[in-house]
Amino acid sequence: MTADFLVIGTGIAGLSFALRAAKHGTVIVLTKGEASESNTAWAQGGIASVLPESLRSAGDSVELHVADTLDAGAGLCDEAAVRTIIGEGGAAIEDLVNYGVHFDKEGDHFQLGKEGGHSARRILHARDTTGAEVARALIKAVRKEPNVKLLENHFVIDLITTTKLGATMDDRVLGAYVLDTASNEVIVFRSDRVVLAAGGCGKVYLYTTNPDSATGDGVALAWRARATIANMEFIQFHPTCFYNPGATGPEARSFLVSEAVRGEGGILINTKGEDFTKKIDPRGSLAPRDIVARAIDREIKRTGAACVYLDVTHKPKGFMKERFPHIYETLLKFGLDCETHPIPVVPAAHYQCGGVLTDVNGKTSIRGLYAVGEVGCTGLHGANRLASNSLLEGNVVARRALLEILRLHPPGKQGSEAPTIPEWEYGDTAEPDELVVIYHNWDEIRRLMWDYVSIVRTDNRLRRASSRLKNLKREVREFYWGHRVNPDILELRNLVAVAGLIVECATRRKESRGLHYTLDHPSADDGLCQNTLIRKF
Ligand SMILES: Cc1cc2nc3c(=O)[nH]c(=O)nc-3n(C[C@H](O)[C@H](O)[C@H](O)COP(=O)(O)OP(=O)(O)OC[C@H]3O[C@@H](n4cnc5c(N)ncnc54)[C@H](O)[C@@H]3O)c2cc1C
Repeated sequence: MTADFLVIGTGIAGLSFALRAAKHGTVIVLTKGEASESNTAWAQGGIASVLPESLRSAGDSVELHVADTLDAGAGLCDEAAVRTIIGEGGAAIEDLVNYGVHFDKEGDHFQLGKEGGHSARRILHARDTTGAEVARALIKAVRKEPNVKLLENHFVIDLITTTKLGATMDDRVLGAYVLDTASNEVIVFRSDRVVLAAGGCGKVYLYTTNPDSATGDGVALAWRARATIANMEFIQFHPTCFYNPGATGPEARSFLVSEAVRGEGGILINTKGEDFTKKIDPRGSLAPRDIVARAIDREIKRTGAACVYLDVTHKPKGFMKERFPHIYETLLKFGLDCETHPIPVVPAAHYQCGGVLTDVNGKTSIRGLYAVGEVGCTGLHGANRLASNSLLEGNVVARRALLEILRLHPPGKQGSEAPTIPEWEYGDTAEPDELVVIYHNWDEIRRLMWDYVSIVRTDNRLRRASSRLKNLKREVREFYWGHRVNPDILELRNLVAVAGLIVECATRRKESRGLHYTLDHPSADDGLCQNTLIRKF
């Protein structure tokens, strides 16, 4: 299979790239599940953007949005990238509207919301299900585009590069090995322009707000292809994910209880009914996200309880139903009436701020390979992401990546002659028989990452995590090479690789900054304020 552009992922980054690229050549878009399975589809709050003057809220400006983003990033943002991405937000929003995304409006104007860390109203949204609306519109537009072939159930196993084939020419991407999960065949997809838009890695942790597909495949693929990876220690945890241990479906396991519930008077309490956050910060439950997440983590570790509670039972009857109907109804579906019972919550892995190192055009260290969206690290987020800046980044960088690709590697102009790509070798590998090994290792990785490498870290915990992961990596490698590939093995292989990268980056940062907090080095050290960069040799 050959295309001018090969896109991996059907979130905002992959789909918005594909729609733009279709004007310039043939596009294949691959996704490992259904097109609607993505973090994008689960986004709630909205997209931050400073619109043209007549549409923005009074007093807002690009400068103000830049300042808020730099402030959240705790000294580690790339200021030029921040200015570029935020400065181009308005144009990228216009593209989304043209693709059919309906944002909420008041008369002729977009309704603009406000979120933590933003000093003005600038969040475009579609009720509290913005991501679902973006995904709906983009998938519909892509399906209508004759130049785009959208292939669901196509799991990218590995990128193919000249270096991986042992060729002596400069390092460039040639395509990917892809498992068609319906036919169980591995197919070679050829392209000189590959856009990795495979999202984040929430599933590395026991508790996450992310869907099951967020297994860090994108970073793992790029790492094995020897691209440079940056800042994987910065994982953002959302303080209040519904704790539902008996849950079976992904929504029940990962249901987010919005920060707005605390904004409207919800209070975090422990099993004894005490408001423990007040001891940590005078703002109590309304302190910034990372402080509240750390306070909950501390309380859970101190008391040994499985969760804490978000209490709204003091609010007038009918308040939750009226103000937060989606949350109220969903909790009710899971058997909890939040007007009469406190909501059990835990912090949960939410967003990967680091990723494949790119410039502001998504360009990676491998020629022809671009990383866009949550998988990439442009420098926009630094050490902590400002709420609702990620959908913005995926959309703007997708736009810029296309322009850069057209400039550097326009379709029709092949690079220097490429080596022949060998077919996938199935060898005499057996069908996986002992699935328990996969599930056990999967569980062990997520639990150890939660216990040792989550919100509060120490040198000792990181050492323990690193040594356990070494054993797990060896076992997973043996399993991978000894069995026929299937999605579970592939995700496990990626999960263990990305867990290792998070531990490695966290170990190297000997200070606390943004989302990386360690008891052994509890302050920020400006002498150490630089990106953590790693590469496979
Ligand atoms: C509950 C929740 C709420 C959020 N709310 C907001 C918000 O209000 N505002 C905001 O800006 N951000 C929000 N975010 C973050 C935001 O949704 C994501 O950062 C963003 O959608 C990422 O988009 P993406 O295109 O990079 O990746 P994704 O949307 O995650 O898409 C990744 C795609 O890659 C595919 N894929 C992965 N691996 C492979 C593989 N090996 N082979 C083939 N395909 C593969 C996946 O199946 C998927 O289609 C939220 C996230 C969550 C989980």
